[in-house]
Amino acid sequence: MAGKDVVVVIEHWAGEIDGSSLQLLGKGRDLADALGSELVAAVLGDQVEPLVAALQTRGLDRIVTVMDARLHYYNGDTYAHVLARLVGQLQPALVLTGYTLVGMELAPALAARLGAPLLTNGVDIDLRDGQVVVTRPLFGGIYQARVAIEAAGPAVVTIQKGAFPVRDVAPRSARVEAMPAALEGLQERCRVIEVTEQAAGALDITKADILVGVGRGVGEAAKIPLCHSLAEALGAGVCCTRPMVDLGWMPVEMQVGTSGKTVVPNVFLALGISGASQFSVGMKDSRLIIAINKDPGAPIFQVAHCGVVADMFSLLPLLTQEAAKLGR
Ligand SMILES: Cc1cc2nc3c(=O)[nH]c(=O)nc-3n(C[C@H](O)[C@H](O)[C@H](O)COP(=O)(O)OP(=O)(O)OC[C@H]3O[C@@H](n4cnc5c(N)ncnc54)[C@H](O)[C@@H]3O)c2cc1C
Repeated sequence: MAGKDVVVVIEHWAGEIDGSSLQLLGKGRDLADALGSELVAAVLGDQVEPLVAALQTRGLDRIVTVMDARLHYYNGDTYAHVLARLVGQLQPALVLTGYTLVGMELAPALAARLGAPLLTNGVDIDLRDGQVVVTRPLFGGIYQARVAIEAAGPAVVTIQKGAFPVRDVAPRSARVEAMPAALEGLQERCRVIEVTEQAAGALDITKADILVGVGRGVGEAAKIPLCHSLAEALGAGVCCTRPMVDLGWMPVEMQVGTSGKTVVPNVFLALGISGASQFSVGMKDSRLIIAINKDPGAPIFQVAHCGVVADMFSLLPLLTQEAAKLGR
């Protein structure tokens, strides 16, 4: 019989807790309160003591750690194995992870091991008439589905980055419990060989004041320099959507969105970007969003403060010329 607790799987890197997990702790606290249950953090890693200290200010009732040298780097097989055991013991109502690159792999593997229901790509989660209801975008964000979880056992839910703000929660003293990793006999089918950092000197799009975002509407790689010229005239950085990376037209460090970076510049100029939720979630909190798209029904106009329905190439030369006059 499942309990009512809410478990948040903590993602971390180089001693820092990922923002996707921090946002889930605020929401998880609300859910646990509404369910009359406990909010539990699951922290897997090598040496996680500093993370436990940081989590003590996050409104948790319980922190369960699993420490082992083999958990130093995230590994799908190992993490799913350890978490399945942890969730099997705790029997919570909900397991929450970010809809991040890690969560996208880990959550289905975990749900499959547990035989549990899985809801991915959530943009909201709340309680309605005692039932947990997850809101998910459909058709690139044009529609939203609200899905109620009816199963009695633990359910696994992944939530988009940026779906909730990172909130200050009244700190409480969480009980800390260590669980053994119990990895004996586990055959890892993949292993991290090397982790490489982004080359020094490359633009960090998360720190840019102004960003020009380029989408597949640019049409061909040869036209990307026109967007760079506008960015240069504006003193802006350049970022892009995922198809631009998949096409090999722009580097992955420039990608915004669920599987890219989250940016919050003062100005975001979206050029030829449809505004699928997996993209918008990574930039919707920008202070001023201006979108140019030739399709008036493009979802980007739902997050844009200022929208221009036009062929971007009819405006780019003029915009670049005018921006150059600003001399930024
Ligand atoms: C698991 C998963 C994770 C994902 N993660 C990400 C992510 O992190 N980041 C991301 O970006 N996407 C991500 N995606 C993909 C996402 O769903 C969209 O497919 C993608 O964002 C669309 O990119 P786009 O807007 O560049 O291209 P399109 O959807 O092809 O849109 C192009 C837009 O350009 C407009 N256009 C065309 N020509 C012109 C013109 N001349 N002038 C003006 N407008 C024009 C069109 O009207 C259209 O709206 C993910 C998808 C999945 C399933």
